[in-house]
Amino acid sequence: MAQCIFCRIVNKEIPSTILHEDGDVLAFKDIDPKAPVHVLLIPEKHVAKVIDFTTENMPMVAKIHAVAQKIAKSEAVSETGFRLVSNNGPHAAQSVDHFHYHLLGGRKLGWPPG
Ligand code: 5GP
Ligand code: ZN
Repeated sequence: MAQCIFCRIVNKEIPSTILHEDGDVLAFKDIDPKAPVHVLLIPEKHVAKVIDFTTENMPMVAKIHAVAQKIAKSEAVSETGFRLVSNNGPHAAQSVDHFHYHLLGGRKLGWPPG
Protein backbone atom coordinates (compact mmCIF):
# COMPACT_ATOMS: atom_id res chain seq x y z
CA MET A 1 0.00 0.00 0.00
CA ALA A 2 2.54 2.54 -1.22
CA GLN A 3 0.22 5.54 -0.96
CA CYS A 4 -1.28 4.68 2.44
CA ILE A 5 -0.29 7.42 4.86
CA PHE A 6 0.08 5.05 7.83
CA CYS A 7 2.13 2.57 5.77
CA ARG A 8 4.35 5.53 4.92
CA ILE A 9 4.65 6.32 8.64
CA VAL A 10 5.60 2.66 9.28
CA ASN A 11 8.24 2.96 6.54
CA LYS A 12 9.52 6.26 8.03
CA GLU A 13 8.74 8.10 4.81
CA ILE A 14 6.62 10.45 6.94
CA PRO A 15 7.97 11.52 10.34
CA SER A 16 5.95 10.85 13.48
CA THR A 17 6.47 10.74 17.22
CA ILE A 18 6.77 7.00 17.81
CA LEU A 19 6.05 5.67 21.30
CA HIS A 20 6.27 1.94 20.52
CA GLU A 21 7.58 -0.14 17.63
CA ASP A 22 8.18 -3.89 17.60
CA GLY A 23 7.83 -5.05 13.98
CA ASP A 24 4.16 -5.94 14.47
CA VAL A 25 2.58 -2.92 16.14
CA LEU A 26 3.37 0.79 15.86
CA ALA A 27 2.10 3.41 18.31
CA PHE A 28 2.58 7.09 17.51
CA LYS A 29 1.13 10.43 18.54
CA ASP A 30 -1.83 11.74 16.54
CA ILE A 31 -0.80 14.81 14.52
CA ASP A 32 -4.03 16.61 15.52
CA PRO A 33 -4.67 15.55 19.13
CA LYS A 34 -8.28 15.58 20.40
CA ALA A 35 -7.24 15.08 24.03
CA PRO A 36 -4.08 15.62 26.12
CA VAL A 37 -3.20 11.99 25.34
CA HIS A 38 -4.01 10.93 21.77
CA VAL A 39 -2.02 7.99 20.47
CA LEU A 40 -2.70 5.89 17.37
CA LEU A 41 -2.04 2.15 17.45
CA ILE A 42 -1.74 0.29 14.15
CA PRO A 43 -0.67 -3.07 12.76
CA GLU A 44 2.53 -2.49 10.79
CA LYS A 45 1.14 -4.70 7.99
CA HIS A 46 -1.69 -2.96 6.18
CA VAL A 47 -5.24 -3.95 7.18
CA ALA A 48 -7.88 -1.42 6.14
CA LYS A 49 -10.72 -2.08 8.58
CA VAL A 50 -11.99 -4.31 11.39
CA ILE A 51 -14.03 -6.23 8.84
CA ASP A 52 -10.85 -7.13 6.91
CA PHE A 53 -9.14 -9.06 9.71
CA THR A 54 -8.94 -12.80 9.04
CA THR A 55 -8.35 -15.77 11.34
CA GLU A 56 -4.72 -15.53 10.21
CA ASN A 57 -4.06 -11.98 11.34
CA MET A 58 -6.69 -11.68 14.09
CA PRO A 59 -4.05 -12.37 16.81
CA MET A 60 -2.64 -8.96 15.84
CA VAL A 61 -5.62 -7.38 17.60
CA ALA A 62 -4.51 -8.93 20.89
CA LYS A 63 -0.97 -7.64 20.29
CA ILE A 64 -2.35 -4.15 19.74
CA HIS A 65 -4.30 -4.41 22.99
CA ALA A 66 -1.12 -5.39 24.83
CA VAL A 67 0.59 -2.29 23.44
CA ALA A 68 -2.46 -0.21 24.42
CA GLN A 69 -1.99 -1.38 28.02
CA LYS A 70 1.67 -0.37 27.89
CA ILE A 71 0.93 3.06 26.38
CA ALA A 72 -1.91 3.73 28.87
CA LYS A 73 0.58 3.13 31.68
CA SER A 74 3.46 5.11 30.15
CA GLU A 75 1.13 8.03 29.32
CA ALA A 76 -0.25 7.92 32.89
CA VAL A 77 -3.92 7.34 32.00
CA SER A 78 -4.27 3.70 33.10
CA GLU A 79 -5.81 4.76 36.43
CA THR A 80 -7.70 7.89 35.36
CA GLY A 81 -9.18 6.10 32.36
CA PHE A 82 -8.96 6.32 28.62
CA ARG A 83 -10.91 5.48 25.47
CA LEU A 84 -9.76 2.93 22.89
CA VAL A 85 -11.81 3.51 19.76
CA SER A 86 -11.66 2.58 16.09
CA ASN A 87 -13.63 4.41 13.43
CA ASN A 88 -14.68 2.09 10.62
CA GLY A 89 -16.12 3.27 7.34
CA PRO A 90 -18.06 6.34 6.22
CA HIS A 91 -20.66 6.53 8.99
CA ALA A 92 -17.89 6.48 11.59
CA ALA A 93 -15.89 9.09 9.64
CA GLN A 94 -12.83 6.88 9.18
CA SER A 95 -10.39 9.16 7.35
CA VAL A 96 -7.36 6.85 7.06
CA ASP A 97 -8.04 3.40 5.60
CA HIS A 98 -5.37 1.60 7.62
CA PHE A 99 -6.89 0.06 10.75
CA HIS A 100 -6.10 2.01 13.89
CA TYR A 101 -7.19 2.47 17.43
CA HIS A 102 -7.25 5.92 18.94
CA LEU A 103 -6.12 5.86 22.57
CA LEU A 104 -7.56 9.03 24.11
CA GLY A 105 -7.24 10.26 27.67
CA GLY A 106 -6.02 12.94 30.01
CA ARG A 107 -9.46 14.57 30.33
CA LYS A 108 -13.06 13.52 30.81
CA LEU A 109 -14.43 12.29 27.49
CA GLY A 110 -18.04 12.81 26.48
CA TRP A 111 -20.41 9.94 25.68
CA PRO A 112 -22.23 9.19 23.45
CA PRO A 113 -19.97 10.33 20.61
CA GLY A 114 -21.42 12.53 17.90
P1 5GP B 1 -9.71 8.44 11.66
O1 5GP B 1 -10.37 9.72 11.24
O2 5GP B 1 -9.43 7.56 10.45
O3 5GP B 1 -10.44 7.69 12.74
O4 5GP B 1 -8.33 8.83 12.31
C1 5GP B 1 -7.21 9.19 11.57
C2 5GP B 1 -6.30 9.98 12.48
O5 5GP B 1 -5.04 10.06 11.86
C3 5GP B 1 -6.77 11.42 12.75
O6 5GP B 1 -6.98 11.60 14.15
C4 5GP B 1 -5.63 12.27 12.21
O7 5GP B 1 -5.36 13.41 13.01
C5 5GP B 1 -4.47 11.30 12.18
N1 5GP B 1 -3.47 11.58 11.16
C6 5GP B 1 -3.72 11.83 9.83
N2 5GP B 1 -2.56 12.03 9.18
C7 5GP B 1 -1.57 11.89 10.09
C8 5GP B 1 -0.14 11.99 10.00
O8 5GP B 1 0.45 12.23 8.95
N3 5GP B 1 0.56 11.78 11.15
C9 5GP B 1 -0.06 11.51 12.34
N4 5GP B 1 0.73 11.34 13.41
N5 5GP B 1 -1.39 11.41 12.45
C10 5GP B 1 -2.15 11.60 11.34
ZN1 ZN C 1 -1.49 1.16 5.26
